[in-house]
Amino acid sequence: MSEALLTVDGLQAWYGRAHILDGIALTVGRGEVVALMGRNGAGKTTTLKAIMGLVERRAATLRLDGCDLSALPTHRIARLGVGYVPEDRRIFADLTVEENLEVGRQPPRPGAPVWTPEKLFALFPNLAEMRGRRGTRMSGGEQQMLTLARTLMGNPSLLLLDEPSEGLAPLIVRQMADAVRRLKAEGLSVLLSEQSLSFASAVADRACVIETGRLRWTGTMTELMADDGVRAAYLAV
Ligand code: ATP
Repeated sequence: MSEALLTVDGLQAWYGRAHILDGIALTVGRGEVVALMGRNGAGKTTTLKAIMGLVERRAATLRLDGCDLSALPTHRIARLGVGYVPEDRRIFADLTVEENLEVGRQPPRPGAPVWTPEKLFALFPNLAEMRGRRGTRMSGGEQQMLTLARTLMGNPSLLLLDEPSEGLAPLIVRQMADAVRRLKAEGLSVLLSEQSLSFASAVADRACVIETGRLRWTGTMTELMADDGVRAAYLAV
């Protein structure tokens, strides 16, 4: 079997002196969608930040496509093809939708899907309708879509998505789930943090369940849906 795109083992992370992650291990295969699940404060966001080099971290293994990320700063990790979409929206409010997309544009990357504004407008039709609109005149959900679309303009091979369904209206949640499925169909690999079992089961192939910074369970989404014990123990129900 070929090596996974992302391999994480023995991941530790700290905020100052607080030891938050203790030995997280996970893989994301090429074209696979993996959901990082767990209750509030379990360490999902911190895991994504640790992969991205945004918190103090140490790992036995932290590799992307055979490349060791463990000592690299965030901008080098981004340049290697990891796109990070944080939970809070990061758009330039004074720029239009189209201008925001241009800010994210990077050269194509071998082995990763190549994105253009037109291709992204096909993926997010509601953004197409407001291509000339400034960020200040967009709803929270629309800003979230634009943050994702702008990250895709960097042509990542791996996307880290933090709580993509959090705080969104049901219609926008469905659009977000459709978008993630289409990203997978394009060949993108995705690691997303998610509290919503229904969103995760709609988009993910596998799940990693964490609690207080430790990996408690890993398996396919189908196995998780069938395992009442794991869901009751580690997920909000
Ligand atoms: P949520 O769904 O609430 O975002 P999460 O699973 O993403 O939960 P994290 O945000 O990764 O959880 O938080 C993990 C732990 O780290 C929690 O105990 C939290 O209080 C703590 N923590 C998070 N951010 C900081 C920070 N900047 N400084 C200190 N502790 C933090």
